[in-house]
Amino acid sequence: MAKKKRVSYIRGKGVSKLRLAYENHEVERHQNIEHYKDIVYQCGKCGTCRTVYKDAYWSRICPSGEFGQFEAYFLGGKNLLSWAVTSDKLKWSEDLAKIFYHCSVCLACTQQCQIPEIHHYAGEWLMAMREEAVRLGFGPMPEQARYTEHINKEHNPYMEKHEDRTNWLPSHIKQSPDAKIAYFVGCTTSYREQNVAIATAEILNSLQIEFKILKDERCCGSPVYMTGQAEKAKKIAEENVKMFKDEGIEKIITSCAGCYRTLKETYPKKFGLDHGIEVIHMPKFLLDMVNSGELKFNKEINMKITYHDPCHIGRHMGIYEPPRKVLNKIPGIELVEMDRNRHNAWCCGSGGGVRSAFKDLSTFAADERIEEAKGTSAEAIVSCCPFCLNQFKTHIKDNEIKAFDIAELARKAI
Ligand code: SF4
Ligand code: SF4
Repeated sequence: MAKKKRVSYIRGKGVSKLRLAYENHEVERHQNIEHYKDIVYQCGKCGTCRTVYKDAYWSRICPSGEFGQFEAYFLGGKNLLSWAVTSDKLKWSEDLAKIFYHCSVCLACTQQCQIPEIHHYAGEWLMAMREEAVRLGFGPMPEQARYTEHINKEHNPYMEKHEDRTNWLPSHIKQSPDAKIAYFVGCTTSYREQNVAIATAEILNSLQIEFKILKDERCCGSPVYMTGQAEKAKKIAEENVKMFKDEGIEKIITSCAGCYRTLKETYPKKFGLDHGIEVIHMPKFLLDMVNSGELKFNKEINMKITYHDPCHIGRHMGIYEPPRKVLNKIPGIELVEMDRNRHNAWCCGSGGGVRSAFKDLSTFAADERIEEAKGTSAEAIVSCCPFCLNQFKTHIKDNEIKAFDIAELARKAI
């Protein structure tokens, strides 16, 4: 029997880098489902991934499972199904594909599993199963196919015109045509949360950062990639990288957690597009500016807030502290935590194609997060992803709690 090698185990850090699981078996990220079929079977079907393993009072953690109320929707069930199809014990079907798409790929379940290979790699096979569904013609879901078509035509998933993308841009924003820094606004910020774009551009102007918005900015491809359409997403990525290079971009600042993860992680690691461009998410940029003394918050914002960790920068990228540090620097802000925070945060229910394809599941997840935020007595839920923000604003009833992006608060405090 092969001797087991000890794997290093970094709890709460999200998906890890390459690790040796067993001798002669190097587990890699971003592979097809065949690559994972042996380690999927390590799942003991114990159900630990249904609740927060430690802290947060063993709260429930999986929107898909809690909504579906059936084992197949939890990670343990998805593992068993993945093993069954890769061992020819179960055939692909539309119903099977639907189960895998009934998941926001929030990765909260992976954080709870104490089997290192599952903890670190389950997110990889949740994605690999979607890619397999697409390859076999069972995915994506019809609504996801519709927005993909629109992205290919108009470069956004919101059924908006490409020519309207910069309608949010006010005339007082100063750009530098030769800048090497691009503010990558993203589709949600451009079309749905323009306040975030304006606040971000105004902050950059106030710091006298030479930046520009790409003349022909387009969707980063995240909604296409996250629904298993890797080949189509790769084509979008290649076109984007060419545009960045043609425009002489060396650094990109993003508002959106999904754009950030896609440009920084998916482009080079999944698509092999080693663009060499520095990609930074707005909260980290703000923190760097505060730490260097270039950004000062002079105005008080007297508000009790709670912070929602977006899955795409939290569990997907391991970034939890910079947004909190920035918020704590704003005078008058009182930051209180929800029970489920950082790697244990409950997903807002907008990601992974869920919001377009399964509105009931998406609403279920959003409502639960909003209730949790209200339970802290905070006046506002703050995030740093326009998709989460838009999800909260859509589902908050009777103005019982407000929702902001971190850039909006930072702008007010300058
Ligand atoms: S994924 Fe991990 S926690 Fe979930 S059932 Fe399997 S072994 Fe248990
Ligand atoms: S990724 Fe999120 S929604 Fe999907 S099974 Fe895991 S916890 Fe549930």
